[in-house]
Amino acid sequence: MSYLDKIKNLEEQDKKFIWHPFTQMKDWIEERPIIITDGRDCFVKDAYGKWYLDGVSSIWVSIHGHRRKEIDDAIKEQLDKIAHSTLLGLSNITSILLAEKLISLTDKSFAGLQPQLSKVFYSDNGSTAVEVALKMAFQYWIHKGVKGKHFFLSLKNAYHGDTIGAVSVGGIDIFHEVFKPLLFKTYKAPSPYCYRCDFGKTFLECSFACLKELENILEKHSDEIASVIIEPIVQAAGGMIVWPEGYLKGIRELCNKYNLLLIADEVATGFGRTGKMFACEYENVVPDIMCLSKGITNGYMPLAVTLSTDEIYNAFLGEFKELKTFFHGHSYTGNPLACAAAIVSIDLFEKEETLKNMQPKIALFEDKLREIADLPNVGNVRNKGLIAGIELVKDKTTKEPYPWEEKIGWKVAYKAREEGVLIRPLGNVIVIMPPLSISIENLNCLMDVIKGAIIGITTN
Ligand SMILES: *Cc1c(COP(=O)(O)O)cnc(C)c1O
Repeated sequence: MSYLDKIKNLEEQDKKFIWHPFTQMKDWIEERPIIITDGRDCFVKDAYGKWYLDGVSSIWVSIHGHRRKEIDDAIKEQLDKIAHSTLLGLSNITSILLAEKLISLTDKSFAGLQPQLSKVFYSDNGSTAVEVALKMAFQYWIHKGVKGKHFFLSLKNAYHGDTIGAVSVGGIDIFHEVFKPLLFKTYKAPSPYCYRCDFGKTFLECSFACLKELENILEKHSDEIASVIIEPIVQAAGGMIVWPEGYLKGIRELCNKYNLLLIADEVATGFGRTGKMFACEYENVVPDIMCLSKGITNGYMPLAVTLSTDEIYNAFLGEFKELKTFFHGHSYTGNPLACAAAIVSIDLFEKEETLKNMQPKIALFEDKLREIADLPNVGNVRNKGLIAGIELVKDKTTKEPYPWEEKIGWKVAYKAREEGVLIRPLGNVIVIMPPLSISIENLNCLMDVIKGAIIGITTN
C-alpha cells in the first residue's frame, strides 16, 4: 500500500470506528478528517505533511508547546522504572513529589492569605476533579454535623465537565438541557457577562447586580447549600466570559459571610493561562477546594488534582468504624508517568520564566485584539492573559447575535484552517488560546490569520 493509500485507509477507519466528542457525526463523515501525526512547539502536522499553528493548545492543554525534551525525557525515565501503580493502598514516588510541588506552588501563589491549601487528591481529568470537589464539600458538612446542606450554587454559563455531577453544576443550556432529568438540583446565580448583562450597563453595575442576585439566593437558601462552585475570572467554555473586577472577591466574601465552602475550578485557567499561575491570584482569593487539570502535564498525560484545606481533610479523620472515609477513587489515580510529566512541566515555569516572558506577548495579543474589536461584525472582545473570546454579531449596534444554526464561528475556523491555523469556536465566539510558549512572531501570524478569516467570512 502506498503512503497515500494508507492515509486514505485511516480516514475511512476513523469514520468507521470513532465517535468523536461534541461532534455531529453526520457532518463529520461528510468531510475529510485531519489526522495529526506530529507536533513541535506550537505547531502540529497532519498526515499529508501540512503544518498548522495550534491556536487553541490542543483544546487548552498545551502550555509549553509540543515535544518538550525535558518532559519527553522525564516520561522516558519514569517508563524505565514503572508505568503505573495505584494509590489505592500504595504510594509512588512521582505522585508524592508532585503533591509536595503543588502545595508549595499554591503556598507561593497565595502567600499570606487564608485559607491554606494543603492536601492533594488525585484523579485523571477535569470532570473527575470536579466530582471529587463536590463530594468532598457535601460530605464535609455531614462530618461537621451540619444537616441539610444537600445542594450547590453555581453560575449560568458555567462549564465544569461532562460527567453527571459536573453537568448538574453546569449552566450551558445547549449542552446541558437535554440531561436535565438526570441532574441533581442546584441554585443558579447569574453569570457576570457584562456585554449582555440584564442588570447593569457598566462593569461595575454588572458586578454589583450579579453579586446582589447571588446574595439573594444565599439569604434564602444558604442552609441548604454546601458550596459555591465557580470558574474564577474566566468562564471558559461558556464563551470566554471575563468577569468584572471585584466579582470573584465578592463571591469569596459572601461564602465567608454565609459560611459556605468555595470551590474554584481552575481546570482551564490554571497554570499561567490568565497571566498568573492561578486566576484566583488576581483578586487575592483562596478557595477552600481547587480543581486543576488541563495544563497540569502540558497536555502529555491525563491527570487532575483536587486540592483541599486541612480544615476539610481533618473533618474526614476518625475511627475506621465511624465510616468517615472519603469513599472515592479512580483506577489511574496518581499515575506515575503523568505525575513525572507534571513535575517537569511545573519546573519549566521557573526555568523559563514563563509568566514573565508572557507579558510582552499579552501586550501584543491585546493590541491585535483591539484591531479585531473594530471590525464591523465583532460585538465584543474579551481576554485575560493568553485567553481570548471574540464574539461575532449580526448587528454591532443592537448586539443581535448570528443565529447559532448559521455556524458562523465554524465558518471562521474553517477559513483560518485553510491558512494553516487551527482554532475551535464556542458557538459565535472565536476562541484564541495559544501555548504560552508561542513566539512573538508566531503570535503575530496567528492573530493576522484570525483577523483575516473574520473579515473574509463576515463581510460577504
Ligand atoms: C475542560 C474543563 C473541565 C473538564 O475537564 P475534562 O478533562 O475535559 O473532563 C472542567 N472545568 C473546566 C473549567 C474546564 O474548562
